[in-house]
Amino acid sequence: MSRYETVIGIEVHTQLLTRSKMFCGCPNDYAGAEPNTHVCPVCLGAPGMLPVVNETALRYGMMAALALNCTIPEFSWFERKNYPYPDLVKGFQLTQYSYPIGSHGQVNIGTDAEPLRVRINRVHLEEDTAKNTHVTNAAGESYSLVDCNRAGVPLMEIVTEPDMHSPDEAVAYLKKLRDILVFLGIANGRMDEGAMRLEANISVRTPEEAEAGVLRPRCEVKNLNSFENVRAALVYEVKRQAQVYDRGERVRQVTMGWDLEHGRTVVQRSKEEAQDYRYFPEPDLPPLRFTAAEVDAVRAGLPGRRHEIVSRYQQVLGLDAYRAELLAQSPAFAAYFDAALAVCPQAERVANLLLGDFMAEVNDRRMDMESTAGLPPAAETAELARQWEAGEVTGPQVKQLLPRLFDTGEGVEAAKAALGIRVVGAADELTPIIEDVLAANADAVEKVRAGQDKVFGFLVGQVMKATRGQADPGTLNRLLREKLGVAG
Ligand SMILES: [Zn+2]
Repeated sequence: MSRYETVIGIEVHTQLLTRSKMFCGCPNDYAGAEPNTHVCPVCLGAPGMLPVVNETALRYGMMAALALNCTIPEFSWFERKNYPYPDLVKGFQLTQYSYPIGSHGQVNIGTDAEPLRVRINRVHLEEDTAKNTHVTNAAGESYSLVDCNRAGVPLMEIVTEPDMHSPDEAVAYLKKLRDILVFLGIANGRMDEGAMRLEANISVRTPEEAEAGVLRPRCEVKNLNSFENVRAALVYEVKRQAQVYDRGERVRQVTMGWDLEHGRTVVQRSKEEAQDYRYFPEPDLPPLRFTAAEVDAVRAGLPGRRHEIVSRYQQVLGLDAYRAELLAQSPAFAAYFDAALAVCPQAERVANLLLGDFMAEVNDRRMDMESTAGLPPAAETAELARQWEAGEVTGPQVKQLLPRLFDTGEGVEAAKAALGIRVVGAADELTPIIEDVLAANADAVEKVRAGQDKVFGFLVGQVMKATRGQADPGTLNRLLREKLGVAG
């Protein structure tokens, strides 16, 4: 048991899913593009070029701030953060410093019954930097390559207060935050691609210092590109700092990287103070003003909170947690499910169809569950679920019909007519088929009559095959048992 309390604050940078960059019209989807092809004089920082604020990025920033229970300021503006580094061709980064788009928020990482609140210090917007690649050629010469495709991509930074007291709490916060941002549809949350980047500030202190509200110097760990790395780096750093203090030495306030290979933190540089950056308001951009009506309009457009949707699916519809979470994976998908329920209220059946054959179809077609573009109308998917529930189509027929609904956009009835799909449910139509199957499978019939009920399923399969999957399962089951003289 350590005699120190752990104190953790988290900074998250996330790219925003806008079509264009933060201050110019260059396309934002630079992944896989040739270096320096998504650039223009504005994002290359040519002298005299005028930036223009991306309004979608502003709205996304405000959506995130509101979802994190932040206060939105009446005024804001962008400032120049000056620092010389090759990833910043302009020599400064435009960022919101004095008046971020959101401040004084909070997130609950506990439960409704036992809340555990992490305060949000600020949510601010800025521009991403270029990407440097360090190369050593065959002659042993080292140099760096600069790709400006990423320069100027809208970036949002979310900073917490030092409210987390264990690596587990830090990871719980990060997961919660990522869920919120992805659910809002403003970020993809992909850490492996660098679209979401994590930094942790860590310090330790004695219980007496905690009581008095005193913080010791903190270390900032960068380059954390997965939840596992965050946890490992925090566990390591907490232990290291405790050991430093136990030796009677002092922890220096530094910026560190996480050395994945050796599983340790390494010092990169001493930590800058704000005055090192010489912030000043960007003279080429007018100040931003947010009216109460504008903020209310953004607030009204927020999707319901994800955990409220999940709990409605569980408590009102009786679905299990796993399926409820999947159905609420995006606001668009939850809305699609809700629209389908209006036509077919059997929640179990609709959920099973959507998460089973339907999802498989979406994945095969490499479609996007974040939006519902290109999906069959919810009413037709619901009609398919209703007919399945009512025995008007069979399971195998659902598998035949779904691709057609995706391909043609036509309704269930039209698809059934086009594919010649019907259900053979009349006894006088099924009986001769069953008799043929029994005559051709005398061995199996003997086994079922001798009590081997497993073989019954084989005979069901043979009749299904003979009707090309069109036999109504209920009627088939009943007639077959009657003919064989066995109970169900
Ligand atoms: Zn540009």
